[in-house]
Amino acid sequence: MAGAKTYRMAIRNAVRGLWRGYLSYEQFFSIMLLATEQGITEAAYTGARNCGIIPSELDYIQQRAILNMVLREQQWINGFAEAIEQSEKLTPMFKRADIWIGRFEGARDEMMLLTCDGAVRLKWIAPKGECPSCAKLDGQVRTVEYWRMVGVSPREHDNKLLACGGWKCHCTRIITDEPLSKGKFPSLP
Ligand SMILES: [Zn+2]
Repeated sequence: MAGAKTYRMAIRNAVRGLWRGYLSYEQFFSIMLLATEQGITEAAYTGARNCGIIPSELDYIQQRAILNMVLREQQWINGFAEAIEQSEKLTPMFKRADIWIGRFEGARDEMMLLTCDGAVRLKWIAPKGECPSCAKLDGQVRTVEYWRMVGVSPREHDNKLLACGGWKCHCTRIITDEPLSKGKFPSLP
């Protein structure tokens, strides 16, 4: 694995392979197991590295968090496989694959909350057309400690604080040295 692009390619190839019948259900399943394990772990390592932590320095809690992120993805492989096998068209399955692919950035951003120093500033960036919650969060600069307290991360699936549920979120959160946002934190969702 080498980054988000490789993860995207691995998932899309698996989806195409199963849909066209080049891959069996079992092959698809094991490819997806491997892709999510490698991809999400690499994404999390990238997040940690952004905070100056290398993989061998991760503590037990941080390692467990990565494992949980991987397992969270893997529980949906079976449902995805069934949908692909039943779908008449490939395009909607690629749309669904985008949700999987987006978790690369999601895992990276979540990991930054777990590894960065509490005083580091993170800025939420929402592309145009995101849900009302993400739009409200756009441009918010808060410390890691503050974000931890709020309990929201970009593309975090099934997060009740995001109107989009995180599933269709395209937001990211980056390290910045811009001034902290003033005033009340927007009410969510
Ligand atoms: Zn959203």
